[in-house]
Amino acid sequence: MRQETRAVHAGRRVDPATGAVTAPIHLSTTFERAADGGYPMGFSYSRESNPNRRMLEECMAELEGAAAAPAFSSGMAAATAVIESLPPDRPRRLLLPKDVYYGLRPLLTKTDLADRFEVTHIDMTDLDAVRDACTEAAPGMVWLETPSNPLLRVTDIAAAADFAHAAGAVVVVDNTWATPLLQQPLALGADLALNALTKYIGGHSDIMVGAVASRRDDEHLARMRSAQVNKGAVPSPFECWLALRGVQSLSARMERHCRNAAAIADFLVSRPEVSAVHYPGLASHPQHDVAMRQMGGVGGGMLSFELAGGRAAAMAVAASLELITRATSLGGPHSLIEHRASIEGPGTATPDGLLRLSIGLEHEDDLMEDLAQALARWTA
Ligand code: PLP
Repeated sequence: MRQETRAVHAGRRVDPATGAVTAPIHLSTTFERAADGGYPMGFSYSRESNPNRRMLEECMAELEGAAAAPAFSSGMAAATAVIESLPPDRPRRLLLPKDVYYGLRPLLTKTDLADRFEVTHIDMTDLDAVRDACTEAAPGMVWLETPSNPLLRVTDIAAAADFAHAAGAVVVVDNTWATPLLQQPLALGADLALNALTKYIGGHSDIMVGAVASRRDDEHLARMRSAQVNKGAVPSPFECWLALRGVQSLSARMERHCRNAAAIADFLVSRPEVSAVHYPGLASHPQHDVAMRQMGGVGGGMLSFELAGGRAAAMAVAASLELITRATSLGGPHSLIEHRASIEGPGTATPDGLLRLSIGLEHEDDLMEDLAQALARWTA
């Protein structure tokens, strides 16, 4: 079965009680016990498991080709569970990309995880650096994020995973930007694939959910499940239901996101006000070949670009847009633009003249017209 078909059917079933084709939302927090004390339907209390969550977890596991995919109350809750559940016999050193999603930095410097893990950031697109760091640092975990945020760098998952495994490390891929429709990290050698379903999978900027797909039913997965149930960072049944609804249209949406983004990238390349366009679908992108190989021949729905006029130009262009909304986040139907350096704050490595675009589902010509009028106003 192909991913597109899987996305429509995985985890779903006709409701046995009513025949409803779309599953009901099970808001009940508690489930009846049989006279013998057991739970014949397999559910006892909603934090432990819930029919909507179970359907979503089955769906994510199938899409990622995983043994299981516990769901959490956000992408960050999922990332926290991945890191703190690292089995105790593994070294406490983590290797992360230099341009890892910026939320990971405070997680690892400002919470209790800072006392429990040592963190090294490296350029994951430089495979020599990955090999050297894996050999020298002997990490317990190697964290990949590809394409990366906001520079859209692409890491060769299979090659990096080989180096990490040779050093005995667990390999995690944050698959949020590509989604399992474009990229299947476990098939490329990763052990865990994390998705913030908040983004493309939910698809409408109205839920917060995360999930971690694990290739194996092993100790790391058991510890993540324990963190999920016993620490309690679980998504609500309604959000699980919305996420599962979102998955069903994911392939059609991704097609449109990717087509629009490719057109906008070409348009931006042609503009004199723009000094750089970061989009893996462009033949000029430094890791274009790897991206095409591991992302199903498309560049994804995200891109960023730099203005020759630096920060002032970036702020002015963003301010002049009439259709594209100035807001953080990504993966929804509406195109969003963001001046990343100012949201990431002091110490960010993001260029000051960079704007990040989450390309939505609008008509590409309307997006280009909006960008064209905003760029023209800056140069006027
Ligand atoms: N991973 C990536 C790549 C992200 O872009 C984000 C959020 O922007 C997250 C993880 C965190 O997801 P959430 O906001 O659901 O916690």
